[in-house]
Amino acid sequence: MALRQIRIYGDDILTKKCREVKEMTPRLKELVADMLETMYEAEGVGLAAPQVGVLRRIVVIDVGDGPIVLVNPVITEQDGEQEDMEGCLSVPGKVGKVTRPNHVIVEGFDADMEPVRVEGEELLARALCHELDHLEGIMYTTKVEGELYDSASEEEEEDSGEDSGEE
Ligand code: ZN
Repeated sequence: MALRQIRIYGDDILTKKCREVKEMTPRLKELVADMLETMYEAEGVGLAAPQVGVLRRIVVIDVGDGPIVLVNPVITEQDGEQEDMEGCLSVPGKVGKVTRPNHVIVEGFDADMEPVRVEGEELLARALCHELDHLEGIMYTTKVEGELYDSASEEEEEDSGEDSGEE
């Protein structure tokens, strides 16, 4: 396993659409392992393949309940609404307010290409939506209502007691 370089806002690759994974190869398995390692090292709650420069439909998420790996994920159900601060490892030090569904169901495949179904509420729902957006080349900054804030000063001003996390 190895750490990969996280691409930063302004890098073209972050606005490109990702290709489907047709089969899991040793190279892509290594990518998944590296993405997990890179996410944990950066203390993020999610990471999508384009954030490490690979245009494949793979995301990893851990909101504190253990790692989730999703290959070719698709949102099959969504409902409710939540409004909260959101951040992104590709936009370091910034957060902005984004409205997301409060509950989503995502179907896809795990790292062994076995079908998986993940149901998420609140932060997990937010992380799933945020990471799946990355696969379409959509940055959360295009969905922010109002302005981007510095994440440090935001914590001082409005400590909601909940860590919205960087994805
Ligand atoms: Zn992100």
